[in-house]
Amino acid sequence: MHSDLIGKVEKARRYAEEPERIKFGELRATFHGGNGNHEITLKDGHWGCDCAFFHGWGTCAHVMAMQRILNPMLNKEAQQADLALAKPEEPAAVPA
Ligand SMILES: [Zn+2]
Repeated sequence: MHSDLIGKVEKARRYAEEPERIKFGELRATFHGGNGNHEITLKDGHWGCDCAFFHGWGTCAHVMAMQRILNPMLNKEAQQADLALAKPEEPAAVPA
């Protein structure tokens, strides 16, 4: 193998150990969830998922899993869950 190429292969190996060098600007992925496939998107630091839970909460298990997997490769905005909408209902008062 040409020595220039060998050098690049070695550099790629080192880079592959340092995922924080990479930041995803946007992405689209199919997530094989427990009840079927979901389309996941990331654009301008905002996640999207076509599952029903995401529509109500602004995040979901699929997005949270992606955030864990890709964490070092996400900018701060994308690392944080879009939890602005995620306010769990107050538990109903239990009659005494
Ligand atoms: Zn989802």
